[in-house]
Amino acid sequence: MSNATRVRSATIGYPRIGRNRELKDALEDFWSDDIDKRKLQDRCRELRHQRWTNQDEAGIDVIPSNDFSLYDHVLDTACMVGAVPERYGSIDDGVSLETYFAMARGSSGDDGVEALEMTKWFDTNYHYIVPELDPDQSFEYVSDKVRREFEEARDAGIETRPTLLGPVSFLQLAKPAPGTEFATLDLVDDLVDVYEDVLADLEEAGAESVQLEEPCLVLDQSDEAREVYRTAYETLGTSTELTTTLTTYFGELRENLELALDLPVDGLHLDLTRGDELEEAVEHLGDGQHLSLGLVDSRNVWRADLSALYQRLESATDVLGDDRVDVATSSSLMYVPIDVEREDELDDEVRSWLAFAEQKLDELDALATAANEGPSEARDAFDRATSARESRQQSRRVINDDVRERLDELDDEMAERDSDFATRRPKQADQLDLPTFPTTVIGSFPQRSEVRSKRAAYKRGDIDRDEYESFIASEIDRTLEAQEEMGLDMLVHGESERSDMVEYFGQQLSGFAFTNKGWVQSYGSRCVRPPIIYGDVERDEPMTVDWVTYADEQTDRPVKGILTGPITMLQWSFVRDDQPRAQTARQLALAIRDEVADLEEAGIPAIQVDEPAIREGLPLRESDWDDYLDWAVESFKLTTAVVDDETQVQTHMCYSDFADIIESVAALDADALFIEASRSDMELLQVFEEFEYPNDIGPGVYDIHSPRVPSAGNMFELLEKASDVVEREKLWVVPDCGLKTRNWDEVKPSLSRMVEAAERLREEYT
Ligand code: GLN
Ligand code: ZN
Repeated sequence: MSNATRVRSATIGYPRIGRNRELKDALEDFWSDDIDKRKLQDRCRELRHQRWTNQDEAGIDVIPSNDFSLYDHVLDTACMVGAVPERYGSIDDGVSLETYFAMARGSSGDDGVEALEMTKWFDTNYHYIVPELDPDQSFEYVSDKVRREFEEARDAGIETRPTLLGPVSFLQLAKPAPGTEFATLDLVDDLVDVYEDVLADLEEAGAESVQLEEPCLVLDQSDEAREVYRTAYETLGTSTELTTTLTTYFGELRENLELALDLPVDGLHLDLTRGDELEEAVEHLGDGQHLSLGLVDSRNVWRADLSALYQRLESATDVLGDDRVDVATSSSLMYVPIDVEREDELDDEVRSWLAFAEQKLDELDALATAANEGPSEARDAFDRATSARESRQQSRRVINDDVRERLDELDDEMAERDSDFATRRPKQADQLDLPTFPTTVIGSFPQRSEVRSKRAAYKRGDIDRDEYESFIASEIDRTLEAQEEMGLDMLVHGESERSDMVEYFGQQLSGFAFTNKGWVQSYGSRCVRPPIIYGDVERDEPMTVDWVTYADEQTDRPVKGILTGPITMLQWSFVRDDQPRAQTARQLALAIRDEVADLEEAGIPAIQVDEPAIREGLPLRESDWDDYLDWAVESFKLTTAVVDDETQVQTHMCYSDFADIIESVAALDADALFIEASRSDMELLQVFEEFEYPNDIGPGVYDIHSPRVPSAGNMFELLEKASDVVEREKLWVVPDCGLKTRNWDEVKPSLSRMVEAAERLREEYT
C-alpha cells in the first residue's frame, strides 16, 4: 500500500452501523443489560471485521481504521486525549465503558449525571458529542482505541490507514466547560504533545500512514486560528515518520487552501463534490506531496457520472503522475445507507439511479481501475453509470411538465399576503376569539405504543383501512378531549396518523422515494431513513384535510392544521443533484401551498407550517448565508401566502439558536412564531431585546426534551421574563416542541400547569 506507483482508491470512512444495524442492536442489548461488556465488544469486533472485508473485497486500496465508534468519534477523541470531565468518573485506569456512555447519554441513579451536549456535525444530519474543556485542562494519551483497531485489522489480514480527528478541529468543535470562558485553541500546545504520543504509538504498532481530519478548515477562520493550524502541524507533521494525509471535507477551503497546501504534511485530501479547487491544488501542491481527490459523493445517493469524474482524475494524474494521486470518497461514507441492492421496495428504475456506500466503493474501484489499467478495463461500470444518468435525465417520473410550467409562472405576489400584519391581526382575532396569552401546542401528542402497532398492522395488511381509520379517529377524539380538559385555547388533532413529519408528506407527494433498509446514523444508536427526492414534486390530493376537518367538527374550539414546511422537507431528505436546491424547495413550496389552500377552503382558521430545520440549512460559510436565506424565506412565503387575511399562519422552529437568522425568521411573516426557548432558560429572549419581532410570538415554556413535569410557577416566571421583551398582546403560551416522544402521564399535568401559568398571567396583566 505504501509503494504505490499507481492511483490508489481510498475511503475516508465507512458506515458504522452495519448492514442490518448491528451496532444499534448491540448497543441497545448492552444498555438493557441483555448482554455484557464482552459480548458487546465481540459483536462490535465482528462488525468492524465485516466493514473492513467489504472494502477490501471491493478492491479499495486505502481502508481506514478507527473510523468505527461505539457512539461518536468526537467523543472517542476526547477519551483518547483524556478530556473527560471529572463528574463522569476517574480515568486513572483508562476510560471505562460506564464513563464513556455516561458522557454520551447521561446516567441514572443517585450519582446520575447528565450527558454532554450533542450538536449537529457540520451541515450533516449526524450529531456529535461536544467535548467540554477547562481553562487549565491537561491532556494525556489515555484511550489507545486507534492503535487497538489498527492492530485488530492487521490481525484480520488488512492493512489500514488509521484516522484521527485532528487536534485543531477537535479544539474548535469543543467548548469551554460551563462557567468558564476562554479560547479552546489556547490549549493547542498541550494537545499536540498528546497527538505526538499517539502517532508514535501508531508507528510502533507498525502503521505506515495516518489520516488527520481537519474538517474545520472548510469553515471561516480567523488569522489567529490559521496560525494555530500552522504551528500545530509544524510540530506534528515533522515529528512523525508516518505518511500523513491532512483530510478536509464538506466544502471548499477557499482562503484556507493556501494554508493547507503549506502545512508540512505528506498529502492533502479535498472534497471535490463541493466547488472546484482541484486545479489550484494540483498547481500548488508541494514537491512529493500526494493529493487525495474526494470525487465520489459521500453525502448523496446518486450514481456518479464516472466519465466526468474520470476526466477530473486524469487532469490531476496528467500533472502529478499516478503515484501522487488517490481517488477517494468526498468524506466518510457514513452519511449514506449501505446497500441499494437490498432495497426491495424501490422499483428497478429508481434503484438503477442510486448508489449507496457499497455501490460507491465499486465506483471508486472503477475509477482507479480506469486510471491504472485503462478505461476499457472499467467499461461495464462506466456504461452502467452512463445509462443510469441518461435514464434519469429522460424519465417522465423526473420531469413533470405541469410543475415546470407552474414554476415558470411564479410571480413575487404569490409569496406576499394580501395585507400587512397590523391589518391581518384584528381580522384573525375576530375569527378566532382567543383570550390574551392564548395557549396551544406544537402539534403532536404522545404516540402510544398502540398507535405504532396499529400503523404497522395496517402497513402489513393485517387490518383494513376502515379499522385503521376508525382507530385514528378515536385517537383524535381522545386527544381533543384531553386538550379541552387541560383548558387549551387552540387545539390540534395530534398527528397520530403520522410516523414522521417528513415521511408522512413525502409519501403523498410525487417525486419522492422511500427505502426500507436505507438507514443512516443520526447519533449513537439512532438511525434515520431519509426519503429520496428524485423528481419534480407535486401534490395530487389533499394530505391532511380529512383528519383536520374531522377534528374541527368534534370541538367548538378552534383547531389548527399542521404541515411540514418546504425547507425541512428538503433538509431531511436526500435531494436531487440535477437542479439547484432552491428549485427543489420551490417545488415543495408549491405542493404544500396547495394543501394550505385546501385547509383554508375547508374552514380551518389557522395553519402552522413547521420549519425546525431552517437554521440547520445555513451554509457553512457566512458569505453564502444570504443566498440561502433568500430562497428559504421565499419558499416559506410561497407556501403560506396563499391564504386570506383572516386565516392565521403560524410557524414553529426548534433545535437551535436562532439569534443569527432572526431577521429572516421575521421575514417569513408568519402571524405567530412558536420557538424553542425553555431549554436555554429563555436565553433566546436576549435576541428580542435588540430586535423587535414584529408579529405574535410564543417562546416555548415547557421543555419537552425532559421527562420532568415543570411547575406552573416556573413557567409563569419564564413568561414574565418573556413579557419584559415581547409586547404582552403578542405573547403566546406554548411548549418547546411536539409531544410525540413523551408519555401522557407527563404531558397532562405539564400542559395543565402551562394553562394555569397563562391564567395567572391574565389575572396579573389584564
Ligand atoms: N408538528 C411537529 C410535532 O409536533 C413538529 C416537530 C418538530 O418541530 N420537530 O411533532
Ligand atoms: Zn420542534
